[in-house]
Amino acid sequence: MPNTEIDYTIDFLLTKILNGDKQYDITKIVEAYKYAESHHIGQKRDSGEPYITHPLAVAYILLELGMDTDTVCVALLHDVVEDTDATLDEVRKLFGDDCAMLVDGVTKIGKIPLFTKEEQQAENVRKILLAMSQDIRVIIVKLADRLHNMRTLYHRPAEKQRATALETMNIYAPIAHRLGIRAIKEELEDISFRYLDPFAYTEIEQVMEKRINDRQSFIGQIQARIKTRLESMDFVKKPQIDGRVKSIYGIYKKVYMTQRGFDEIYDKYAVRIIVSTVYECYSILGVIHDMFKPIPNRFKDYISTPKANMYQSLHTTVIGREGIPFEVQIRTWEMHHTAEYGIAAHWKYKEGIHGKDRFEGKLAWIRQIIEAQQETNDVEEIVRTIKSDLAPEDVFAFTPKGDMITLPVNSTVVDFAYAIHTQVGHKMMSAKVDGKIVSLDYKIKTGEIVEIILTKDETKGPNRSWLDIAKTNEAKAKIRSWFKKECREENIRNGKDELEREFRRNLIRVPDEDLDEFLSDDLRRHNCDTVEDFYAAIGYGGILLSKLIQRYKDKYTKQYLETEKTEEQPTLPTTPNIKKTDGITVEGMENCLIKFAKCCNPLPGDDVVGFITRGHGVSIHKADCVNYVSAMEEEREVERWVKASWEETHTKSYRTTIDIISYDRPGLLADVANLLSEMRIFIHESVSRGLKDGYASITVTISVGGIEQLNNVVMRLKRIPGVSSVERTGK
Ligand code: MN
Repeated sequence: MPNTEIDYTIDFLLTKILNGDKQYDITKIVEAYKYAESHHIGQKRDSGEPYITHPLAVAYILLELGMDTDTVCVALLHDVVEDTDATLDEVRKLFGDDCAMLVDGVTKIGKIPLFTKEEQQAENVRKILLAMSQDIRVIIVKLADRLHNMRTLYHRPAEKQRATALETMNIYAPIAHRLGIRAIKEELEDISFRYLDPFAYTEIEQVMEKRINDRQSFIGQIQARIKTRLESMDFVKKPQIDGRVKSIYGIYKKVYMTQRGFDEIYDKYAVRIIVSTVYECYSILGVIHDMFKPIPNRFKDYISTPKANMYQSLHTTVIGREGIPFEVQIRTWEMHHTAEYGIAAHWKYKEGIHGKDRFEGKLAWIRQIIEAQQETNDVEEIVRTIKSDLAPEDVFAFTPKGDMITLPVNSTVVDFAYAIHTQVGHKMMSAKVDGKIVSLDYKIKTGEIVEIILTKDETKGPNRSWLDIAKTNEAKAKIRSWFKKECREENIRNGKDELEREFRRNLIRVPDEDLDEFLSDDLRRHNCDTVEDFYAAIGYGGILLSKLIQRYKDKYTKQYLETEKTEEQPTLPTTPNIKKTDGITVEGMENCLIKFAKCCNPLPGDDVVGFITRGHGVSIHKADCVNYVSAMEEEREVERWVKASWEETHTKSYRTTIDIISYDRPGLLADVANLLSEMRIFIHESVSRGLKDGYASITVTISVGGIEQLNNVVMRLKRIPGVSSVERTGK
């Protein structure tokens, strides 16, 4: 984490000021320091350090943001009125009206308890907004104050950590976001996330660390290629090109909201190009789309339509030669400063916001919220407006006692129960929302009061179907861990069954007496003391057999088959001899060489077109293949596309790839394989892997006789329990 190791002293602060190019009233800052230091003397932080290190750190953060002299003084003074015998009048006499007003504002915000009863909460958030509207610097100081408190949160008692993290995630990070202060917003989110979901945080952190070298070399190469190309263009002057890493929480949100695996997050790799003019931005966009293949619908023009927090850039996601997608952001320096510092850029690069300006244009949203509130006296409505405006992805609901629980949109009462306490989740029987009984998949809305009704039956626990109902990873993890602990017998049985099934399917026939020895490597690798532990882990899904089976196949072949060189071949149906030269008629050509395009793999029954290649015959594409459609749209090489159709009878087999997304469960892969084998469908290849939130994807390449048989296969696959979608891929 940045900056926690710094020894904050006034000398350190002054060095920072002297090394920068912004003018500060150093005498005033030193006076403010002396005043604060003498009042906080003897006070200690939880870390045992002198209290003054905290105001110094806050002042340092504000210097980094480029805030003005008064703001830096206020940072130094921000806790004196609250925590020492200093008075506001004294501060006013010594440091002026502005400083006194700001210290007063920061002190008042600090006293507003954010997590109280609903009615008060509306009032409290309203107070924060009002303080902000008087002088936006108040909230900027408060954000810096909160940032340093978050950086040092590990010194606080454990029960405070979670509450503070929750408040930061729900109130302060969204405010930083609305003010466009990216650096503070992302750090607040990342630290809060670490306390709120340490497991997920560590998981993402580890994956990122493991890949740091791949990433740097990949992005490094892309950067170099873009740089060379842009340097050859005379309309581009001195572009800055750098790589960018998404924040941990940013990645989490993407993975979580899109339910995709880490590998599928397109914009975790990003290249940023900063230039001088808007004209260059759009020209460079064209160059990028010429160098790399753009992914459709992933282009966003935030230059012509800025985001609510003033953010401007062009975004596009493209695919490089390596087949790895990455995002490119193109912006001017001015846009870049706004993107990094948001509202604070006004102090860093301009005069700041004073007097009547402070309400104009860029801060209009604060005024709008306050005005919207005045029109209604319905407290619930007020909470809803403010909250949804601050963090549209979250809902805020309440326990009957008035405690607020924050959950992602679409969370159900199951999530709510587990968010209160693990045992409340496990013992939940039913739930009431605003006094009425609801079903467990009821989606909670902001402002609702949710009462969880518990079972009296000591032996009762969660139901497996709750894994589908829960939306948060937190609830899912708790449900899974219950099954892991409570259902050992069942897990052992399921795991053993699954292993036997997989072995049968792969024709691995290890004699019973050899089995322990055969599995011993993996017992050790997965920290299992006994074979039972190993079966149990397979049973609850902790060990994915799909990942091990290839090794078992190799081991089995080595130990049992290779010596005999047996005739025994898999009894699966053999692939019919795939001769792809006929089955197709191309208009105006006879006996031409036919290939099936790899981009769309047409099947009999599909509408098709042909493309006359240079020297390799005609390649057959689906009529809705991107390559054909875009060639027509752009009127490219129109003369090379020819009509083609399937011949009446075709007895051949064609390769196609289908993607199966399913809730992951023991035996899933085996069920898919058994079904295909039953239908006498040949499997060329299958790849399966776990996705987020308990889902798995299985990609199988099979041979089918045509579209009818394929549709049949798809329909049957969809009936396998847990399977949520079956799709033919473009590949
Ligand atoms: Mn403070």
